[in-house]
Amino acid sequence: MDDVFKLADDLGPLKVIHVHEPGIGLKGVLVIDNVARGPSVGGVRMAADVTTEECARLARAMTFKNAAAGLPHGGGKAVLVGDPKMPKVQKEILIRGFCCALRNEEQYIFAPDMGTNETCMAWIKDEIDRVVGVPRELGGIPLDEIGATGFGLSHAVDVAQDFCDFDLKGARFVIQGFGAVGKHAARFLCAAGAIAVAVSDSAGTIYNPDGLDVDALIALKSAGKSVTEYGAGEKRDGDAIIDIECDIWIPAARPDVIHEGNVNRLNAKMVAQGANIPITYAAEKILHQKGILNLPDFIANAGGVICAATEYQGASEAAAFAAIEEKLRRNTREVLETAQREQILPRDAALAMARRRVEQAMSHRRWHIF
Ligand code: NAD
Repeated sequence: MDDVFKLADDLGPLKVIHVHEPGIGLKGVLVIDNVARGPSVGGVRMAADVTTEECARLARAMTFKNAAAGLPHGGGKAVLVGDPKMPKVQKEILIRGFCCALRNEEQYIFAPDMGTNETCMAWIKDEIDRVVGVPRELGGIPLDEIGATGFGLSHAVDVAQDFCDFDLKGARFVIQGFGAVGKHAARFLCAAGAIAVAVSDSAGTIYNPDGLDVDALIALKSAGKSVTEYGAGEKRDGDAIIDIECDIWIPAARPDVIHEGNVNRLNAKMVAQGANIPITYAAEKILHQKGILNLPDFIANAGGVICAATEYQGASEAAAFAAIEEKLRRNTREVLETAQREQILPRDAALAMARRRVEQAMSHRRWHIF
């Protein structure tokens, strides 16, 4: 097990909990990073290769994301070891077992993430009730089904085009990862007049310089197939998505996919981070030096958690969309203007803004009096 204390600093993490239930093959981790702004919200990720360190880094990203979005929530994250495509009955046992083991961790509210969805959240609601992103029939706002994060991302990109030399109408975009974030980002960007030239999933990349039919790709995924089975395009391997020339490159899958070793292969004017922590800081610096505009993850992909917080307050889907649009547009502009004015990386501008908000909240907490 990796040493999580090497990641600890003045903000957190508050708690790191390992869950192990050999009887059902359950191995998971919960990291509650910081709760100064309120109970933590963050998704439950299921993947075969998740680690405690990844969980802690994602929990910190949630602390900043929730603070940047002005939500009354701290940051947390949970990871569950396993293939998300395992038989449904086995997945249900693991998810139910995991949330039951964490029943008393009241400072963490479950939400969907990679490898989990509204159905998984329904199982959690059935067991412990402390969850957002549940299906409509249970009174929730199904944030993945409505594409809350992709919607927000499209607004962030729309604002960011003012800081780049291209027009969103006719802009060519590429998306790595065609799941809840990627496919809806594609849908909303196409509605704004942009053109998808390549997308990928875990089976590979599909590319067509004349444009891909996003609705047809979504239909393929809904049928349980890969985007590579789309007929009218050139099939390439998964890694090839990095090289494809475009205006907007969107990572919407795994962490650390762009690093010092491959960042120079990117051939784009803007990178809009749909995934959490998809690009290392060293690679972001290189992007900045090359004049490629980079929208940091916790600013650009906050749509999902804004939707979750709206659901938690009992408000409507329409209120969620309005809050996402307003917050994403305001934050993106504030971060990019600060970055431009102070000649710093957009991430540094975003981090300073979020950290300031967390520290202000922490100053009111009891442990800061002593
Ligand atoms: P998802 O499970 O719905 O989709 C993930 C997609 O990525 C799938 O199409 C999968 O095939 C693909 N994929 C996996 N490994 C890949 C690889 N190596 N190369 C290319 N594609 C690969 O997950 P999601 O909810 O869309 O989340 C994607 C990312 O966005 C994660 O980093 C997640 O933390 C982040 N995120 C999600 C939300 C949300 O609302 N769902 C909000 C903010 C951030």
